[in-house]
Amino acid sequence: MIAYPRLTLHNGKELPVLRFHPWVFSGAVKTQDANINDGDIVEIYSAKQQFLGMAQYQKGSITARIISFSKQQITIDFWIKKIEKSYLYRQFLNLANHPDTNVYRLVFGEGDGCPGLIMDYYNGHIVFQAHSIGMHKCRLDITEALKKIYGNALKSVYDKSAETLPSNYSSGLKNEFLFGSCDSDLVVVENGVKFYIDFINGQKTGFFIDQRENRALLGTYSKGKRVLNTFSYTGGFSMYAAKHGCSQIDSVDASAKAIDLCQQNAVLNSVSNHQGFAVDTFDYLKDYGKNYDIIILDPPAFAKSRDVSHNAVIGYKRLNQMALQNIKKGGILFTFSCSGVIDKKLFYNTVTAAAIESRRHIKLLHTLSQPADHIITPNFPEGEYLKGLAFYVE
Ligand code: SAH
Repeated sequence: MIAYPRLTLHNGKELPVLRFHPWVFSGAVKTQDANINDGDIVEIYSAKQQFLGMAQYQKGSITARIISFSKQQITIDFWIKKIEKSYLYRQFLNLANHPDTNVYRLVFGEGDGCPGLIMDYYNGHIVFQAHSIGMHKCRLDITEALKKIYGNALKSVYDKSAETLPSNYSSGLKNEFLFGSCDSDLVVVENGVKFYIDFINGQKTGFFIDQRENRALLGTYSKGKRVLNTFSYTGGFSMYAAKHGCSQIDSVDASAKAIDLCQQNAVLNSVSNHQGFAVDTFDYLKDYGKNYDIIILDPPAFAKSRDVSHNAVIGYKRLNQMALQNIKKGGILFTFSCSGVIDKKLFYNTVTAAAIESRRHIKLLHTLSQPADHIITPNFPEGEYLKGLAFYVE
């Protein structure tokens, strides 16, 4: 049995933890044992010495991230049980072992009781991305757990944490395979639509899995329409539009690499009415925005922290205004924000203000969010980040 070092909280600071919030902030810590290092497992206690949880320690504003609210040893067995629970939940969601979809988020950080850990499943290959040192230190145990859960179906586990860990820890750290390899082109299928995945060179873990359901919805409106997919990345929305019989689909992304893969995805899905443009969305909308019945706006997060949320609002408003001014009569705008600090209400107000200034009448068709494999729980509202709106434009 390992005896873990302890962190004791100030009186009253146990309350959020008792409500299962998994973060312990530095200001809540009254005392801590000597010689605790970043990534170490610690036990959290209230001022009255009530046990609160097992956590991973990391010096900083969030000092400890709780991985268990019951007292236990953190072993391979612990990880097997935890990740099996995540896997079974994806099975319950009809994602794991589905013939038409073999790409899903297996672990979504706090939503899965794994603060600081993202794991995405791509047709037998798993991308492991640690956002905390504690999770990175557990990578080999977690890989063993994945081997146990998936058996022969697991082809590789790739650690892609070099860009997501604090620089003092990650200097010299390389992204690498923790198990197996991926030697040939990797193709996944999502709702029957095929995509090449380049998880080594692509953005984030390789694909924006969180838009799966919104892509499917866009598909249902696409028949016979001229569709513009801006911030397209590798063409997620574009391929759905094409599969559902749009008359033309154009993808715009600032990244030439993304557009290259987008073109390859069009070939993979036998799409012949697709064009890709490696240019800035704002420039493209200004010059060619008038040609479309449907416009999709899915920009990267304009605000990463609360203090820049004002600038982000200005950015979202400008972007949505450009699209709304241009979209054809009877068209549809699909607009998204993945900035956690811009809440639903603020996003709605921003887009509707853009419509008023554009002198366009709009009707709300859908309020959109992230799919259930990107778990939202009441004890961790911070996990809700993707917001979308679909408007009919008169
Ligand atoms: N909708 C996509 C994901 C979009 S991620 C999907 O379903 O897969 C955001 C994308 O915006 C990235 O690919 C990034 O390269 C691109 N991007 C960032 N700034 C841009 C800009 N000013 N103009 C065009 N693309 C941009």
